[in-house]
Amino acid sequence: MSVSAVYVQNENITTSLKRAIDLLGGLNQFVKRDDKILLKPNFFVPIKSACTSSKLIEAVIQTLQEVDAEIIIGEGSGVTQDTDKVYKALGVDKLAEKYGIELIDFDDVEKIVVSVPNGKAFNEIELPKIVLERKIINLPILKTHNITGITCCMKNLKGCLPKRYKTLSHIKGVHQAIVDINNIIKPALNIVDALEVMEDFGPTYGNMVKANLIIVGESALLVDYFCCQLFCVPLHSVRHLESALKGICPRNDDLIKVIPTDATIPELNIQRGSKFYLFAYRLVHLGNRICAGKLFPFLSRHVGARPTIDTEKCKDCQYCLNVCPIEGAIDLKNKRIDRSKCVKCFLCMEFCPTGAIKTIGLHL
Ligand code: SF4
Ligand code: SF4
Repeated sequence: MSVSAVYVQNENITTSLKRAIDLLGGLNQFVKRDDKILLKPNFFVPIKSACTSSKLIEAVIQTLQEVDAEIIIGEGSGVTQDTDKVYKALGVDKLAEKYGIELIDFDDVEKIVVSVPNGKAFNEIELPKIVLERKIINLPILKTHNITGITCCMKNLKGCLPKRYKTLSHIKGVHQAIVDINNIIKPALNIVDALEVMEDFGPTYGNMVKANLIIVGESALLVDYFCCQLFCVPLHSVRHLESALKGICPRNDDLIKVIPTDATIPELNIQRGSKFYLFAYRLVHLGNRICAGKLFPFLSRHVGARPTIDTEKCKDCQYCLNVCPIEGAIDLKNKRIDRSKCVKCFLCMEFCPTGAIKTIGLHL
């Protein structure tokens, strides 16, 4: 089972993607005509830099349309998020409309309980039925992660879990939970968005670094392994990967590279949460479970990083109102942002020409 890594030249993502798939034998090795496909991107927060890029998703859709595959997009955003609002904030609703694709919120669809083969964190788990019925194309973005080292193919599948199980996975041990989930969900293909990767304190607020790569393979485990090799991430810093690799010794010649010799692939610098951070994070998840999933969203709204308007600097240009995806979140008359409505996409901050919008609170 090989993995291909292709350098995207001249911003032609669709051509590069096809090249990466052709290096593995062509699309028909993985997808047949009229297959029912579920695209699983990483849309865990409504912040564009932290999510799979729309450009790559569009390239995947165009590639799949050539074999008349029936495509839907599914995600269950983070425990503090409403997936439909995340779709909207990222502009995925418009992309879906353009191609006539249905968007699924995993928290809103029928679930079934499945037993976990060799499960250690879970013996059984609840999953959206549609995840088990469709061929999955896993579309993670490569990022560092303050708890799991990196998040890529294996970790992205955790997004299929209902929110209750996402919380439970942090209580039972997130590294083993990721391994368990990967023992059930086996994507037909994994396509990694490594066009821009996140380093330092990912997965939400890290720095973005250009890498211009698309990495493709059938095995989530091997793709993650080779991503670590390419970006100089030591295996011991990714415990779920290290654990899943036990007894497996990938062959280095299984990585097919089309990367110019003068291309720069950044070494990913990982900043882990301190012991106190990890302890507090687990405690909050425990509290979240006791409070029926309400504690984390409450803390995110009142203590977590959120935008605020500096009345002195605001010039009433209304740019923020035009880019905000949530109606009524910004009250310019009173220079206030409504915490109960704001989804924290920070688009207002990005587009404010005077720097009047700042973040306050903790990066949870
Ligand atoms: S974009 Fe900035 S300056 Fe313009 S109205 Fe909004 S907060 Fe004020
Ligand atoms: S107020 Fe700003 S951060 Fe909140 S939803 Fe609107 S654009 Fe996003």
